[in-house]
Amino acid sequence: MSVNAHHVHDGFRNPSPGFEEKGLTDVLKWVVWDRFINNSNSHSSDSVSFEPAENDPAALKNNKTDFTITWIGHSSLLIQIDGMNILTDPVWSERVSPVSFAGPKRVVPPGLAFEDLPVIDMVIISHDHYDHLDKDTIERLGNKSFYLLPLGLGEFFEQLNITNYQELDWWADIRINKIRFVCVPAQHFSGRTMFDRNKTLWCGWVLESNSAKIYYAGDTGYFPGFKEIGSRLGPFDVAAIPIGAYKPRWFMSPVHLDPKEAVDVYLDVKAKYFIPIHWGTFNLSDEPLDEPPKVLLLEVENRNLDKSLFKILKHGETVVLPNPSIHSELPYNP
Ligand code: ZN
Ligand code: ZN
Repeated sequence: MSVNAHHVHDGFRNPSPGFEEKGLTDVLKWVVWDRFINNSNSHSSDSVSFEPAENDPAALKNNKTDFTITWIGHSSLLIQIDGMNILTDPVWSERVSPVSFAGPKRVVPPGLAFEDLPVIDMVIISHDHYDHLDKDTIERLGNKSFYLLPLGLGEFFEQLNITNYQELDWWADIRINKIRFVCVPAQHFSGRTMFDRNKTLWCGWVLESNSAKIYYAGDTGYFPGFKEIGSRLGPFDVAAIPIGAYKPRWFMSPVHLDPKEAVDVYLDVKAKYFIPIHWGTFNLSDEPLDEPPKVLLLEVENRNLDKSLFKILKHGETVVLPNPSIHSELPYNP
């Protein structure tokens, strides 16, 4: 497949053979038929409660050496590696929608208060959906942090007077201090309005340093690209993989993994630790909010995998990981 198979004249597409694009008719079928008539979303998010973890913001602020990952909620992670503080898809807002009075509302507060964050050096963004690209949070972070974006998202930042960013295409890379960041393919889509579908790119990110290799999958359905990510950039010390927003499958499967597929991804990319993301924070789909980790753990048992490597974090929980493999050289060659 051509390296630019994901480019089209007015934006981007998913190049995998067999990818099935869902349109407005499918959205209506889900919302009106499944949800409204058949009550597929009858589980109430009110009945689910999560107990946040106690965290130690002072330790996070002082940490210059340990390799840590803190789950803020949904796909927002604070990654501390090689003395750098990096956020993934940071969202501190109450709702993930174009307006503040409607749309999916947060069911758990952010696991770490915004004021408790250490100084953020870098922010990586996977795509422009509201649950990943939050205008208010970006405005709060401002121009002090450096942003890595998939192609086409720079304009959004320019409108906020943020110029400290770099756009990257799939497989392009950039080195910042001791870390090499690689933009990697994902099977998803983009758009914040009725009129900008797939105008900007979507992606995952790989972070490679001498002390660890991390894969952050963004939002994605299952596709053959994971094996390629594993063979070109793996093995990884940690993979952060989405496990939520998977039901109904007929609608979600092209663009959202279910927990079983997330285990396939973990094996494809050859990761040691698994950190689940994209669950337990916003009610975006038909499965109960607390279902994804239960299904994940069953799958881990069924496949006889080592349960201790699956770090299902509470909101705000920090995991300190061993500085595992000291990679003597960076193996990535574009
Ligand atoms: Zn998305
Ligand atoms: Zn999402």
